[in-house]
Amino acid sequence: MTRGRLAPSPTGAQHLGNARTHLLAYWAARQAGGELVLRIDDLDSPRVKSWAVDQAIEDLRWLGIDWDGPIARQSDHLDQYEEALERLKNSADDPAYPCYCSRKEAEEARSAPHESRFRGELPPYPGTCRNFRQGDRVDDRDHCWRFRVSQRQWSVDDQVMGSITCAPAKDLGDFPITTKSGQASYQLAVVVDDCIQGVDQVVRGNDLIASTFRQLELQERLGMTPPQYAHVALVRGPDGRRLAKRHGDTRLSFYRESGVAPEQIVGWAAHSIGLIDRQEPSTAADLIHEFDWTKLDHEDSHMDPETIF
Ligand code: GLU
Repeated sequence: MTRGRLAPSPTGAQHLGNARTHLLAYWAARQAGGELVLRIDDLDSPRVKSWAVDQAIEDLRWLGIDWDGPIARQSDHLDQYEEALERLKNSADDPAYPCYCSRKEAEEARSAPHESRFRGELPPYPGTCRNFRQGDRVDDRDHCWRFRVSQRQWSVDDQVMGSITCAPAKDLGDFPITTKSGQASYQLAVVVDDCIQGVDQVVRGNDLIASTFRQLELQERLGMTPPQYAHVALVRGPDGRRLAKRHGDTRLSFYRESGVAPEQIVGWAAHSIGLIDRQEPSTAADLIHEFDWTKLDHEDSHMDPETIF
C-alpha cells in the first residue's frame, strides 16, 4: 500500500505555497487508496519555533487534510540518525569524512564560475578535506561530517517531471551529513525518517530535486529502498521570486483569522496546479477523485496573492 507523508518545517508559518504542496501529498496518497503520515521536521534548531509546530498541525486540520497514526517528530529520531551516521563512519571504504572547512572557506573554495544544472545550487565542494579519515585531527577546529558522493550517474523517474539525471560528483559534490555540533543534517535525517516511517511516496516542492540525488546516494549506502519521488511546481510571486513577505501576507493562519474559508484555499490550490478547470471552493476530500498526475502543471505558478481570493 502507498504511504505518503506530510513534512512541514516549523521554522515559520505555513503559507499558501506550503498548503498546495501538502494538499498534493494528501490527494496523491488518498487517491491511490494509501496512507499518509505526518512528520514535523523540527531538526533545524535554532530556526525552529515552538508555536509553529502547533500552528502547522492546526493549518493542516483546517485545510481538511487528515493523516494516519501518531504525529512523528524528527527530534524523536535522534538515536536512529546517530546509528546511521556510525554506520557510514565505520564503513570500510570511508563514505564519510571529517571536514574542517569553515563555512567561509567552503564557500570561497566553491566560488569558481559554475552554472549548476539545478536552480539555486552552489558549485560543488572541491574536496579540500576529502583525504581525512575518522580520527584525523586538524588542530582544535570543529568539524562536520561530509558524505563522499559516488561517481555514478543517476536517472530518476519522477512522477511529475519524468526522467531526471544527475552525476553527483560533477553536479553536486560531497555534502555535509552533520552540522559542526554533530547534529544530523537534513539530508541524513530525511532518509532515516522516510525509512523508519515506511514512506514510499514523497511529494514535495521542485526546489528539492538536487537533494533527491543526495538522498539517493545515502539510501544506497545505507541499504534503504528509495521512495517514489514527485517534485511539484512551486508558487511564486508576480515577480517570479519565491513567495515571501514582500508579496503580502500569505500565512494560512492569516487567512483563517481574516475569514477566508479553507474551501477557497483548496479550490485555488487545485485550480492553480491544473487539477480543476475553474477556481471553485471545495473541500480537500471532495477533490481526491480529481487528482491525476498527468494534469499537474510542471511550471511554477506566478501569482499575486492580493488578487487570489
Ligand atoms: N520539511 C521540508 C519543507 O518543509 C520538506 C522536506 C522533504 O520533503 O524532504 O520544505
